[in-house]
Formats: sequence, structure tokens, C-alpha cells
Amino acid sequence: MANSRYEYVRSFEQPDVLLANTWIVVRIDGRGFSKLTTKYKFAKPNDKRALDLMNAAAEAVMKELPDLVLAYGNSDEFSFVFHKDCVLFERRASKLTTTIVSTFTSYYTFLWQTYFPVLPLTPPLPSFDGRAVCYPSDQNLRDYMSWRQVDCHINNLYNTSFWALVQQGGMDHRAAERELSGTISSDKNEILFSRFGINYNNEPEIFKKGSILYRDFFPVSTQSSPTPPQAAQSPPPLSHPQPRKLTARPMSQPIERTVPDLLRDSP
Ligand code: ATP
Ligand code: ATP
Ligand code: MG
Ligand code: MG
Ligand code: MG
Ligand code: MG
Repeated sequence: MANSRYEYVRSFEQPDVLLANTWIVVRIDGRGFSKLTTKYKFAKPNDKRALDLMNAAAEAVMKELPDLVLAYGNSDEFSFVFHKDCVLFERRASKLTTTIVSTFTSYYTFLWQTYFPVLPLTPPLPSFDGRAVCYPSDQNLRDYMSWRQVDCHINNLYNTSFWALVQQGGMDHRAAERELSGTISSDKNEILFSRFGINYNNEPEIFKKGSILYRDFFPVSTQSSPTPPQAAQSPPPLSHPQPRKLTARPMSQPIERTVPDLLRDSP
């Protein structure tokens, strides 16, 4: 390759290769979705169509990026997990993050009309931010997932109580906010049950715990078609996870119990 005299500008680029042999989590989050939910009159506190759209876009991302093993989403956010062995884009943070963000955004807008057929998108169009973080141990990754799920739970309990006070209790937003300020979880459960007959435990799992998508995988053997490791002649290299079935479902149990099962390398 001939070098032009302009070539030197490449040296201004900062390296952003992520630490080897760590789980890479890319979390994306909708930009200004509080406004967007008002604009398109999302059902409050949870518009199921919008959650289904988020899940459909995330599923499309996982199909396009076979290095992804797991994704967890709630509200306007999704966390995508690249396998420890991932070498896509030489593990460059900006390449991984921007590819996920743009692929997700493209599918979110493309699939919008399937979930909101009578509400066409108009500018400003939905957009998402993203960041990549490395987690060295399986425990760190489990704790990350638990952190996002606890966030989902706390926000959902608050939002469910807030909108019950507004929609069923006839309060304005400020009064509902005041009513909930300083309350702990048990107070909110009590408000929901005694005033509105809502048993929070009976709320849909997808609202309380979020959604998970995962793909079982096992290391590639020397054969061209994927073979389970126990059938291979010699220990297969660990560097190229071979995707298998992709599963998407609402969380039915706490992340803490589900994620460990998903972190096994073999079926
Ligand atoms: P930022 O750009 O800083 O992320 P934001 O307005 O998107 O700002 P978030 O903290 O991400 O702030 O909150 C997302 C908002 O979108 C919350 O108000 C949440 O209730 C709302 N939201 C997300 N998904 C749904 C849904 N499926 N149904 C109803 N509301 C939703
Ligand atoms: P990567 O994912 O690594 O970027 P790539 O296939 O996108 O792979 P680029 O180096 O970005 O590789 O090259 C873009 C390709 O798209 C080139 O082959 C270029 O000729 C082609 N291309 C881009 N814009 C046009 C256009 N307007 N008309 C015809 N070809 C185009
Ligand atoms: Mg944000
Ligand atoms: Mg947001
Ligand atoms: Mg958010
Ligand atoms: Mg290109």
C-alpha cells in the first residue's frame, strides 16, 4: 500500500482494545425516551408493544452478531454480552459499541410499524447511546446482570405505584411523587394492595424482571459441522464459539439463578 503524505493522521487515533479474556458487555439506552413515550402515548407504566419491539430489535442484533451469547433488557435499555473469547474487530470498544448501537437502532425503526402500525415514526427519530465494559470473572458478569435486574425491579415497583396513584387514585404527577417520596418497597406494595387491590407479585414477569435472550454455544471442533465437545477427537480450541439455537423469553426467574446456567461452555 502506497503511503500518502496524509497517512500520519492515523497516529492521532487512540487505541481502545478491550482487555483479553474478559466478558464484554455493551449496554445501550434509549435517548430521551421519557419524551418519546409521551409523544407516542405509550401505555404507562409498561407498554407491552414497546417491550416486544425492544426484544425484537435485540433478537435481530444477536442474529447479526454471532459472537453475542446473552442479552438482557428492560425499559429502554439492553445489555449485550460478547463471549470472553470474542475477537471481533480485535475487541475494539468503539467498533463493538457503534456496531451494536447502529444495528439495534436500524431494527428498532425498521420494526416499529409492526408493533405500532397506526403510529408512524416522525423526526426526531429514536436513537440510542452505548458503552462497553469488561467483566473479568463469571461472578462479575452475574453481578452485573443482577444489578440491571434489581434496577428494573426498583423502577417498575416505583412506576407501578406512581401510575396507580395517578390513573386510579386521580392524583396529579406532583402529588403522586410526594406520596411516594421516602417510601420503601414494603410501603409501595402496601399502597398498591390496600388502595388499589393490586398484588405486585401478580404483575407480568416481563414487567417485573425484564427479558433475556441467549444462545447456547460450544467450541468449534475440527469437523465442519458443529459437534458436541465430548464427541470430538481432541480438545477443541476455545477461541471460536459456535452459535446454536437462539432463545428469547421474558425472565421467569431471578437473573442470579438463570445466568449461571447460561455461562457453561458445553451443552
Ligand atoms: P436518557 O436519554 O438520559 O436515557 P430517558 O428519558 O430515556 O433519558 P431513562 O432513564 O432511560 O431516561 O428512562 C426511560 C424512560 O422511558 C422511563 O421513563 C421509562 O418509564 C420509559 N419507558 C421505557 N420503556 C417503556 C415502556 N415499554 N412503556 C412505558 N414507558 C417506558
Ligand atoms: P468493513 O465492515 O470493514 O467496513 P466494507 O465492506 O464496508 O467492510 P469498506 O472499506 O468500508 O469495506 O468499503 C466500502 C465498500 O462499499 C467499498 O467496496 C465501496 O466501493 C463500496 N461503496 C460504498 N459506497 C458506495 C457507493 N455509493 N457506490 C458504490 N459502491 C460503494
Ligand atoms: Mg441514559
Ligand atoms: Mg433512556
Ligand atoms: Mg433507560
Ligand atoms: Mg465499511
